[in-house]
Amino acid sequence: MTTPTATVIGSGFGGLSLAIRLQGMGFQVTMLEKLDKPGGRAYVREQDGFFFDMGPTVITVPQFIEELFSIELGDDSLERADFPDDVNPVAYPNTKRYCDIRPIAPFYRIYFDDGSYFDYNGDPEDTRRQIKELAPEDLDGYERFHDDAQQIFRRGFMELGYTYFGDIPSMLAVTPDLLKLDAIRNLFRFAKKYFKSDKMQRVFSFETLLVGGNPLKVPAIYSMIHFVEKTWGIHYVMGGTGALVQAYVKKFQELGGQVEYNAEVAEIIVEKEGWFSKPQAKGVKLVDGREFQSDIVCSNADYATTYMKMIPSQFRTWNPDWKVKLMKYSMSLVVIYFGFKKTDEPLDLRHHNIILSEHYAELLTDIFDRKVLSGEFSQYLHIPTLTDPSMAPEGHHAAYTLIPVPHLGADIDWSVEGEALVDRVLTFLDEKGYIPNLRENIVTQSFVDPRYFESVLGSYLGNGFGVEPTLTQTAFFRPHNRSEDIQNLYLVGANTQPGAGTPSVMMSAKMTARLVKEDWLAQLNPVSNSSADSAQVAK
Ligand SMILES: Cc1cc2nc3c(=O)[nH]c(=O)nc-3n(C[C@H](O)[C@H](O)[C@H](O)COP(=O)(O)OP(=O)(O)OC[C@H]3O[C@@H](n4cnc5c(N)ncnc54)[C@H](O)[C@@H]3O)c2cc1C
Repeated sequence: MTTPTATVIGSGFGGLSLAIRLQGMGFQVTMLEKLDKPGGRAYVREQDGFFFDMGPTVITVPQFIEELFSIELGDDSLERADFPDDVNPVAYPNTKRYCDIRPIAPFYRIYFDDGSYFDYNGDPEDTRRQIKELAPEDLDGYERFHDDAQQIFRRGFMELGYTYFGDIPSMLAVTPDLLKLDAIRNLFRFAKKYFKSDKMQRVFSFETLLVGGNPLKVPAIYSMIHFVEKTWGIHYVMGGTGALVQAYVKKFQELGGQVEYNAEVAEIIVEKEGWFSKPQAKGVKLVDGREFQSDIVCSNADYATTYMKMIPSQFRTWNPDWKVKLMKYSMSLVVIYFGFKKTDEPLDLRHHNIILSEHYAELLTDIFDRKVLSGEFSQYLHIPTLTDPSMAPEGHHAAYTLIPVPHLGADIDWSVEGEALVDRVLTFLDEKGYIPNLRENIVTQSFVDPRYFESVLGSYLGNGFGVEPTLTQTAFFRPHNRSEDIQNLYLVGANTQPGAGTPSVMMSAKMTARLVKEDWLAQLNPVSNSSADSAQVAK
């Protein structure tokens, strides 16, 4: 039996996770990455001796990572329990063979505009103590929130997390439960049911911003993030998230997978044999003219870009341009990467810091709806050198700060506004005393804005997180992991089910792998897998 072949477009966490799974299942996989290094949003920028993880820094659900590292040839792990009872959360033995992953506490320090802060962690006792200090009127509300969010977590994540919603009936089957749990109301209104103080309403709703969701719009099912973090903690990979990316590449190659960098896909080759037959993916053409033929093609690239740029419109009845353009896309980001000298005064910050502006709802509306650059900004400030000094030259800190901004559908001239915003943010960090004397001690800096997400990562409108997670773009209503238009074409990553964020894109890879397995069961023969059998040809 010939080994079936697969091409994976893109090496983000979604592409890498799927490539590992398919290779383990018995496909001969070639992963093609446009950039010169893997990781996509998790690309590592090396600058003046500093190492900056450009994207994800908050690593959650380490058991998903463990599962990928435990895959062997012929053992696809798709049949294992998704949330096994017997995993020792401290051990993760297979992960240990590839990288050093450590818990971070507190999860985040959240600063309010009056200078007070909340150290958010998974310990309910400590949470109660801090609520008592900051907003004692919300102590009862916290207990109710805790119970209700736990119910949502159990149903929405533990039971339904891996459910692929491929049709309307599968959605209808779970709707009564979600209504009963009030998981469909928007998250901010959900938080307001329990918390009277502005501060607690923000603490228990901001996290969806880290996956591109507007707390004012995203359904309350996302309150499960609180429990996901509480249950498995927040982690850091020593050497940065880039070390996890490299470890995944290593795992993939050990299984026999092949990877090519500087390999930008221009087109997915589609053929239609007869008038009534479904168009079929046959491989890809690169910008440099090379062609890769394969039995299946899986795109980890942006959903809108995959359909609108890589597939001729005559083959797209389910995803025509008008429908793709009608979808809402997540906000974009300005991210500033900077290094500064340590001083005698230690930094009074944590590894992960959220610095909220005075006006929460107004700022969110400016970013997501009005699409204007507000006079205010909130930011997520990441200082990995507080955990891992190896990210900067001796005597220095490496940091990045991330500011949500409107995507390119807005009338903002980033060639002017980018620099100006960077200046305002760094001055703010210095003058407000978050990083005293930053201006004086800064030794390197660079930034990206929505243009980077569009031109380098190929994301439509420069979106930071893909299709926006709103109620009408969740589950069945998100782009599907198995293409309806083209046979043997699959999608994976932040734009597909279940959504954005590193744990979700690893889940999306498992969902996509299950769909591939359903379609290719007859042809899969893991025992005969070897690269020598490969039918994949690079012309
Ligand atoms: C600044 C930032 C911070 C974040 N922080 C967190 C966090 O702390 N925790 C968390 O869980 N999530 C975080 N996220 C979200 C998370 O990073 C993403 O949801 C996830 O990494 C997306 O992975 P992906 O595989 O879907 O896509 P991507 O990482 O975007 O990968 C897509 C890949 O496809 C490649 N590609 C595109 N077009 C082509 C083409 N034509 N040919 C070949 N290759 C192509 C791209 O170069 C890229 O490598 C953050 C995101 C950003 C932007």
